[in-house]
Amino acid sequence: MKPILIDAHSHVNFNGYKKDADEVIRRAFDQGVAMLAVGSQLSTSERAVDYAERYDGIWAVIGLHPIHLFEQFVDEEEIQFKSRAEEFDPDAYRALAKRSKKVVAIGECGLDYYRLPDGVSQTEVAAKQKEVFRAQLDLSLELGLPIMIHCREAHADVAEILEEYAAAGKSVRGDIHCFTGTVAEAERYLKLGFYISFTGVITFPPRAADRAKGSPLDEVLRTVPLDKLLVETDCPYLAPVPQRGKRNEPAFVRYVAEYAAKVKGVPFEEFAAQTLKNTKQLFSLM
Ligand SMILES: [Zn+2]
Ligand SMILES: [Zn+2]
Repeated sequence: MKPILIDAHSHVNFNGYKKDADEVIRRAFDQGVAMLAVGSQLSTSERAVDYAERYDGIWAVIGLHPIHLFEQFVDEEEIQFKSRAEEFDPDAYRALAKRSKKVVAIGECGLDYYRLPDGVSQTEVAAKQKEVFRAQLDLSLELGLPIMIHCREAHADVAEILEEYAAAGKSVRGDIHCFTGTVAEAERYLKLGFYISFTGVITFPPRAADRAKGSPLDEVLRTVPLDKLLVETDCPYLAPVPQRGKRNEPAFVRYVAEYAAKVKGVPFEEFAAQTLKNTKQLFSLM
């Protein structure tokens, strides 16, 4: 297929699509939307690879998400689940990466201080998350793949680790997925050469306190150069307006792109072409 847009972060490989994944994928392709299928632990990473092998227009990202290091209950915009604890096994992920040429990045991995498990101290959780994040940074460097970073309420620590790698001459490439931070935080990542990826969160109306000056994320969108910007859905979560509240899917990345193009003051076609190019470049998509 020849895409118009690539959803740079989807979970079509998740259980939320168990019954109709093929239809969801077909709907995206019919609208010119290709996608990266992103794993969050070994089982969903394996499934991402299966989809990538099965479909032209899907590539796989494999890794261990910080919320899967401890067992915990997660409530994600109407979708609730209990996460299973997993130890990061670099050998298993290395073998999976080598199984398919369509594994294009390591992730999603990173730090999440927002959703903390019960009965474990914040210090212990943060230490474990950092250790597993570093192990995945090392694996990405070893395999020559970019890294796809998940970060929630932990930008200072993520940036510090990336800066430490850069200072040691280890040039990690990648993107910060579902970016919802501040302009200053975005600038710190841009300085490191990172791409910034936006979801449907940018289409959500601003909180009452921000209504007069507009959404703070509009300001971030205006700051990120067009050649460093990616669009994604993070489906099944975070469906953009006007689909908010429904199960999200890759075809809806169009709404994210339309909104971002408007804020950037760029025609949609130009915006789509540039973000497509960015995604292909960062992940070396063929
Ligand atoms: Zn994430
Ligand atoms: Zn995700």
